[in-house]
Amino acid sequence: GLAPGGLGGLFSGRFSMPSESGTRTTFADVAGQDQAKKEVAELVEFLREPERFQRVGAEVPHGVLLMGPPGTGKTLLAKALAGEADVPCFSTWGSGFIGVFVGGGGGRVRKMFEAARKAAPAVIFIDELDSIGRTRGTGLGGGHDEREQTLNQLLVEMDGFEKNESVIVLAATNRPEILDPALLRPGRFDRRVTIDLPDREARLAILEIHAIKKKMGEDVKLDEIARRTPGMSGADLYSVMNEAAIFAAREDRKRITQYDIVQAVEKVAMGPERRSRRLDQEEKELTAYHEAGHAIMATLLEHADPVIKVTVIPRGRALGYVYQT
Ligand code: ADP
Repeated sequence: GLAPGGLGGLFSGRFSMPSESGTRTTFADVAGQDQAKKEVAELVEFLREPERFQRVGAEVPHGVLLMGPPGTGKTLLAKALAGEADVPCFSTWGSGFIGVFVGGGGGRVRKMFEAARKAAPAVIFIDELDSIGRTRGTGLGGGHDEREQTLNQLLVEMDGFEKNESVIVLAATNRPEILDPALLRPGRFDRRVTIDLPDREARLAILEIHAIKKKMGEDVKLDEIARRTPGMSGADLYSVMNEAAIFAAREDRKRITQYDIVQAVEKVAMGPERRSRRLDQEEKELTAYHEAGHAIMATLLEHADPVIKVTVIPRGRALGYVYQT
């Protein structure tokens, strides 16, 4: 979206204000991730009442790095921080700074910080920090001049904050190990929060959040779905609930059934079912032996996860599969 005043064009159009979406994101929209929520919740106070901290000479933290796999709610947390504090959120992603317009990523960084300072208190969110913040001089990613210039400008901006300026920069990465150490020095991204894939309990909480606005049938057991979805991120679970609603609508049902959700889980995990992909007799037989082998081993091995389905109906790139929780 674009910010008022045409600022958006400076940031490859990836510049958004909370008022745009109408509804504010709050911590209630973020399930699980208790530790990360706690860390981010502390920052709300700094944005709401900077004077309180200023009075006693406390330094406001400026840079927070959210580290974790894609789809685990890092963007959501940044929006919730801005929503809870009721301040604007300026967001962009690392690669958005680079190469879209002539004039250089450095200039775009400067302008973004300038706009955020003007609007302060405010939140800046930079996704994919690693795409600008890679260790310099390793030749990784081509040792790009523009990237280096963008990174340098970001460091300059982070160092240029007045002690109590109420702008908080949240950045996200799923590859913290490749970040330039200069980014992690005191006064820069010196608060770090690790975000993991949700465990079973958190998956249930996420499913419940995304069930609120949907019509659920009486047979729906979300705890069973949470059990079936290890390894899925919050974004995957969001897709599951949405796909389930689409299945229900296609079949012209008024409510989502457990079967719709189970189908959706398999679709999100493996890709769409491909009934049109006919296996010839030999292929089908080979696939059946192959999958039966998996299923037998999973049954015989003491520590294997329970098998809930074996099939030779192709899905995504698989000709058949054994589904274990
Ligand atoms: P990231 O920035 O870590 O890649 P996002 O914040 O963009 O992930 O997550 C994408 C979507 O997935 C969110 O808008 C939300 O609908 C859903 N989601 C992810 N994590 C959670 C969570 N912890 N609670 C509720 N929904 C979540």
